[in-house]
This record gives sequence, C-alpha cells and structure tokens, in this order.
Amino acid sequence: MEEHGVTVPQALLDFYAGLEEVGRDYPVRLSWSGEPAPDLPLLGGMRVEVPPEAFLELFDRYVEYFRGSEAEVCPNLLSRIKKGVHEAGSQLVERVFSNDLEYVEDFIWEQKFSPGLFRLLLAQVMRPFLRELGEREGERRSEWERDSCPICGGSPGLAVLQGERSLLSCSLCGHLWEVRPGRCPSCGEALEAVHQAEGFTVLACSGCRRYLKATAQADQDLFLAEVRSLPLDVWAEQAGYLRPGAEVPAAAGS
Ligand SMILES: [Zn+2]
Ligand SMILES: [Zn+2]
Repeated sequence: MEEHGVTVPQALLDFYAGLEEVGRDYPVRLSWSGEPAPDLPLLGGMRVEVPPEAFLELFDRYVEYFRGSEAEVCPNLLSRIKKGVHEAGSQLVERVFSNDLEYVEDFIWEQKFSPGLFRLLLAQVMRPFLRELGEREGERRSEWERDSCPICGGSPGLAVLQGERSLLSCSLCGHLWEVRPGRCPSCGEALEAVHQAEGFTVLACSGCRRYLKATAQADQDLFLAEVRSLPLDVWAEQAGYLRPGAEVPAAAGS
C-alpha cells in the first residue's frame, strides 16, 4: 500500500462544516405511517409526510448559506433554484419524500438547474428529516445487511470498523447500519485493504470491484470525514474501482 499527498483544501472542509451547522438545530416536523415491504427502504416504503412550509424554510436557509459562503456559486443560479423550488412547493416535497428519484431528475432537467448544485442542496435539506426518521424507526431495519441505506436508500459514504463489527454510514442521511465484517455488502465476496491515506483505508472487492472507504474512528463527524476522505475516491476511481452502489458495467468481469 502506498501513501499519496493529495488533501482536501481547508476552505472546502470549512464550507462543509458550516453546511452541517445550518440544519443542526432545525426543529424538524414530519409524520410517517404504513408498514414498509421488507425489501424497501423506509423512504418510499412508508408514507412519509413533511409539511411543505417546513421544507421550504430550511431550503431557504441553505440557499442563504450558499449565497454568503466563499463557494463560487452564481447568485442568479441560486435565485432561479429558489424560485423553481417554491413554485413546485408541495408537489416537489411530496415526491422527494416518496423517494421518487425520476421526478427529481425530470424536475432538474425541466428547470435547467445545475444538477450538482441542486442535488447537494436537496440532500442537505432532506438530511435532518431523514435523520429523525432513522432515529425513530431505524429498529425496523436492524436485519438489513445491504449496500444501500435501510432508511433512505442512499449509498454508504464510509465503513466504520469497530472491533468485530462493521457498520456503513449513509452518505445522504447519516444512518449507520451493520453489515457482515470483511465482506462486500454488494456481493458477499471478501474485502481487501488496497490503499491507505489520511487515516482511511480503501477496502476493495475482487468480486464486483466496488470499494468502501473505511475508518476505525467512530467518534467523529462522519459527514465531514467523508469529505476529508475524497482523495481516496480519486485514487479508487483511477485504480478502476467502482463506487458503492454503482451499477457494474455489463463488460465487467468478462
Ligand atoms: Zn440514508
Ligand atoms: Zn463485491
């Protein structure tokens, strides 16, 4: 294993740290009902209702944070996104919390939003609501063991190794779920440590070529740790590994 010198710029880490603060103490309001099918995440598997005004209020807070940050975001673009989101209002909120990804992608395309910026904003606004759902209802999915989040269906951002236990943390909502230690959560093959940097290890699967970024340090902000570990994604992609949750190309393995 080799070390390499790429690190995430401090300004970017500060930006994400500030982003975490915006929604931290937000008094989330949501309700949920229904019995989810065992193979579905709770989002999409249950009826989850978020008051549109609560969603839009938090959304506006994030827009203001982006506006005031050092990040190079065009103010016109933010104004257009804000206008489009408020116009779509309750329908957008309802579709988002039904896990209707197709609706969201169509919405981005129709509105001609910058997809990366819009998805980043949307993920921030969803997180406090999904976190609450996970804290209250996560027990329903204690036997999950898959490579996507049992609460929201998101991809694992990090693997957290605690002694004999292996947990995955969701990139979108931060929920932690337990998986078989040392095994690829996507296909079940053995994982191998192939690279280390910044206190993280890339665990790669020889079966499906997906990888996880692992840390043994559970008592850190995992959302920020995920940002700090971005150089490992660059390494893994250059080495030909696939992100967790990525579709394996048809030609792979041939
Ligand atoms: Zn999640
Ligand atoms: Zn695998």
